[in-house]
Parts: sequence; C-alpha cells; structure tokens
Amino acid sequence: MTSTISINDSQRLQLSPLEVPNRLLLGPGPSNAHPAVLQAMNTTPLGHLDPSFLALMDEIQSLLRYVWQTENPHTIAVSGTGTAAMEATLANTVEPGDVVLIGVAGYFGNRLVDMAGRYGGDVRTITKPWGQVFSLDEIKTALETHKPAIFALVHAETSTGARQPLEGVGELCRKHGTLLLLDTVTSLGGVPIFLDEWGVDLAYSCSQKGLGCSPGASPFTMSPRAMEKVQKRETKVANWYLDMLLLGKYWGSDRTYHHTAPINLYYGLREALRLVAEEGLASCWQRHQKNVEYLWEQLESIGLKMHVAKEYRLPTLTTVCIPDGVDGKAVARQLLLEHNIEVGGGLGELAGKVWRVGLMGFNSRPESVDRLVEALKEVLSK
Ligand SMILES: *Cc1c(COP(=O)(O)O)cnc(C)c1O
Repeated sequence: MTSTISINDSQRLQLSPLEVPNRLLLGPGPSNAHPAVLQAMNTTPLGHLDPSFLALMDEIQSLLRYVWQTENPHTIAVSGTGTAAMEATLANTVEPGDVVLIGVAGYFGNRLVDMAGRYGGDVRTITKPWGQVFSLDEIKTALETHKPAIFALVHAETSTGARQPLEGVGELCRKHGTLLLLDTVTSLGGVPIFLDEWGVDLAYSCSQKGLGCSPGASPFTMSPRAMEKVQKRETKVANWYLDMLLLGKYWGSDRTYHHTAPINLYYGLREALRLVAEEGLASCWQRHQKNVEYLWEQLESIGLKMHVAKEYRLPTLTTVCIPDGVDGKAVARQLLLEHNIEVGGGLGELAGKVWRVGLMGFNSRPESVDRLVEALKEVLSK
C-alpha cells in the first residue's frame, strides 16, 4: 500500500512500507547482523529500570568482560556507536594540559588526535605509513620522550587492515605511570584480545563489526587505575552524556536513571555476545582466522595482492590492492548494484589504492568468500 504525503504546496512524498535491498555487507562495517540477533531485537521493549532489563544489563557486563578477557568492574555498553565509546574514553580521562600520546598509522588514529585535543589534551603523535605498525622499540622511545598521561593505540586499524601487536606495551606504560588506551572496534570478537594480560586501561568497541549486531550499543571498559584518574579529576567531565561517574550509577548498584537505554539494541548486543560465548571465544577467533586465510588464497588465485605484510594482517579486515588500470570505485559500485555485495574503498593515504574487505562476525564464513570472489571475477573480466 502506498500513501501520499503533501509536505507543502510543491512537495509530495510517495511512501510504501519499508523495503531494503538484501545486501551482503563485506565492507569495513557494518557487517550483517546474525539472524538470531535480529530476532532478539524484534521483541517488545521493557522499561529501562525494569528488573528484567537490569538483569540483562548485568549479563551484558559479564559477557563483555569475557570477550575482552578482563576483570574490570567498570565494563558497560555506551548508548551510541563506536565513536561515542571512543569519545567516552578520552572525555573521562583527559584533563586540560594532560599529555596524550597517540600512535597514528591510519584514519582512526587521527580521529583520536582530534578528540583528545577537543578535551584540552596536549596531544603528541608518533606516525607510521598506512599499513604498517609500531615496533616495541619505537613505542619505548616515544614513551621516554613524552612521558604521557595517556598513550593511545588502534589495535585493528580499519583504514589499513593492520593489526598492532600489544605484547610488552602495557608494561612500558606502567613504568611511566601512563594509562594505555586501546581502540578494539574492529578486533573485538574476531581478533585475539587479552586486555588484562596486556595491561590495557581503557578500551572501546562497537556492536556492528566483529560482534555481528546492529550499530548503536558500544562496549566500553576502564581499569581501576583509569577509574582512579577519573575520580581524582579537578574539573568535571566536559561531556554529561558520557560521564562515567554518572553512567556508573545506572550500570552499578544505584540503578538511577541517566538516559533511556536503546532497549532493543541492548537485546541485540546481549544475544550477539551470547552467540560468541556459545561458540567459544577461542573458536570464534579461529573461525575468523581460517576464513580470512581462505579469502587471501582465493583473491591471490585471481591475481590480486594484499596491501599489508602477512604477519600483521587482520582477520577481520583485508586491504586488497586495486590492480593498475582498474577503476576501483566502479568495481565496488558494480559489486553493490549487480551482486548485492558491499565492499569499502580506501581512505586517506590509501584512497583509490585499495578495496577494504571485511569478514566480521556472522559474515566470517566460507560462503561469503565464495560469493565475493565469484562476483569479483565476473566484474573484473568485463
Ligand atoms: C568503525 C570504527 C570506529 C568508529 O565506530 P562507529 O561505530 O563507526 O562510530 C572507530 N575505530 C575504528 C578502528 C573503527 O573501525
């Protein structure tokens, strides 16, 4: 049934009930939500202070500690996308004048720089060409030079497809009294993470990449060390919505109203996390690794090359070099419109040079690889 709405004298809108194309989302995110997650979200909302909903929030907290391998009491979901959880880490811990050192090797490192500056941080950077990672020696020298209050790294740089190794970084940070902040948006659920073992103090993620949920409820965690810094602040957190002292009262024992949680998204996140737990975290990581290796092999078999050195490639996101003479944008457009497959283009230093192919969460399956490679073969042969 179609209805017509007159917006004003000259504008009319023809509307039929919502219908969206059925795409396979193999770009940098979102990925397709698991059918069971969609089903969970299609449930009547509860009130945000209903005891059943509060119990579900507790389950989300326990499950997040599991997928992150942390015992941090302050582990919650932020109502908003990954960027909101990202902003929460800096908004809470950066006080004007704090030295914040950021490793920039891609687009999301730059976003951290912009945000930390907005909260008054004295921002310093170390940089790498896009697609490379920092060595422990480079990190050691930078920490000795800048002695930062906070050091931020991106574990899985979605703009480049590179995985930053973390072994030894936390120990160095502790030596300097530095808090270690880690972006795990494209690694949580798909790449091995051991937050406590690595000595990470602040981390955030999203729901729509490795966890296979819809966007909008984003994991956030903070170590007792980081919480101590927040409690010792001389100034209030400059962002009311993301203030962890206030949010802690909703997620903690007080259970006082802060904002209305996006109820159905929390249902989805809870189900997505439960599915990871049911599969087993280690099996989930192995599945992502196995399927991405199959992707690399299949892409190589049709003559394509990957941008990142094999040992630093992510299981969740692969940057594929666009061959000389091929119009990358036109290929992506054809994949989308003729084959219903979404892949991403390059950003920044890699604009026009790579496609970004994600195999995240529910989409990390051999069938996704087969469908993409078949379609690519056809499009490239034209
Ligand atoms: C996607 C992404 C973000 C931002 O998350 P949104 O959910 O898009 O707000 C931050 N960091 C990295 C590494 C990402 O890939």
